[in-house]
Amino acid sequence: MLFKNIGLVTEDFSYREGMYVGTIEDRIVYIGETAPSEDSGSAPEEELFKITVSSNPRKSGESSGCCGHVYKSGETHPLYGEVYDGTGKVLMPAFYNAHGHSPMCLMRGYGENLPLDRWLNEKIFPFEDKLYSEAVYWSTLLTMAESIRYGIVSTSDMYYFIDDMVRAISVSGMKSNISRAVASIGCEKLEDCIGYREMRETIMMYDGFANGKIIVEASAHAEYTNSEYFLRAIAETAKEFDVRMHVHVAETESETKGCIERYGRTPVAFLADCGLFDVPANAAHCVWLTDEDRDILAEKKVSVSSNTVSNMKLASGICDVPALYAKGINVAIGTDSVASNNSLNFFEEMKLFALCGKFRAMDPSVMTPEQVLHSATRSGAIAQGRMDAGLIKEGFKADLIVVDASVPNMKPSHDILNALIYSADGKDICLTMCDGKVLYRDGIYMTMDVERAMAEAENATKKILSLM
Ligand SMILES: [Zn+2]
Repeated sequence: MLFKNIGLVTEDFSYREGMYVGTIEDRIVYIGETAPSEDSGSAPEEELFKITVSSNPRKSGESSGCCGHVYKSGETHPLYGEVYDGTGKVLMPAFYNAHGHSPMCLMRGYGENLPLDRWLNEKIFPFEDKLYSEAVYWSTLLTMAESIRYGIVSTSDMYYFIDDMVRAISVSGMKSNISRAVASIGCEKLEDCIGYREMRETIMMYDGFANGKIIVEASAHAEYTNSEYFLRAIAETAKEFDVRMHVHVAETESETKGCIERYGRTPVAFLADCGLFDVPANAAHCVWLTDEDRDILAEKKVSVSSNTVSNMKLASGICDVPALYAKGINVAIGTDSVASNNSLNFFEEMKLFALCGKFRAMDPSVMTPEQVLHSATRSGAIAQGRMDAGLIKEGFKADLIVVDASVPNMKPSHDILNALIYSADGKDICLTMCDGKVLYRDGIYMTMDVERAMAEAENATKKILSLM
């Protein structure tokens, strides 16, 4: 696809108008202020991947090709295919959701206004006890539909029923860093724990699946749901298979105090001692941290996924993101599940992430738009080990979204980067592309029957409630 005359969030998170961006297969191969040559198809390969950005971008209007050709909407470029008219629109990197539990969408709005322990024990755990294979398939597919509608192309997804999740994710065309979370309370031996066995099987079966779209990670659900023996075994598994780690860390004050009572150390210090951060790791939440904890996370190069809406809804606390930024920690953004969110609207997530950072620091100058956009995109890709993704850059994966800036909530626009964080809405997204393939466009879901996914997910919810 060739995007023409489009506003562009560049690789250094500045903004330029009137740009051309070309994709071939799964890659971004052209960025420039003029249309690419039509005969590039016969050019040497290194020429096709050459980036061209000059210092005085075109402002608006029809854009001339290098040979005087004027591309119109609906036209086809011989090398890039469809020409997409980006007038009044913004092209930015797609979002990487750094923490989620996709099948929990069946519990959207179920168990509202409860503290975390009652929410889990009285509502979520009894519901999950009745989950079954097809319910997980349809709920995951519905979550994928909502994700691509809100510009998310990849989620760090921690749950179980992995076969059914992978099936749905593959249908959607999205990517996933998936993990079978281990919660081993009640188990003494490794072989007695279904979660531990399934975590290992999942890694062996699916890591690198779907041309690398599926990355499998090791996962301890949390410190408080595992013994030290199991935590060390999970860390060893990650090292054995050379995979990443995904774990809930210091989400609530009571969890953090409990860990100090049990082990005399904070969750971050204790999990580090158990070896969980000896591989590239993604620590979800990190609300209750000490300065020493932040030093450990920085030293171990752990990514933090901050889940602002979920943390606020369950009144768990507010992650001190400016303090993490100050230590040079890679801070990504997660939604957590819609059971505690209750949506995957990533623009809403990004805005509250920025506002809570400012509010906690009592300083409106922190959380710059460049930092916040980086956290929503590039930092999420880094947290997933997708090092060639999350930026609009030569040779990078074509994971892109188009945002309509010709809507009342975006006018007038004094600064488009700030407007993207504070004024844009998730429903202003008009196109989501993953690995060069359009998954969503102008209300149309290209890879799935969304009406059926909604109906099947509702039927599954009714069935589970009837079994409880
Ligand atoms: Zn979670």
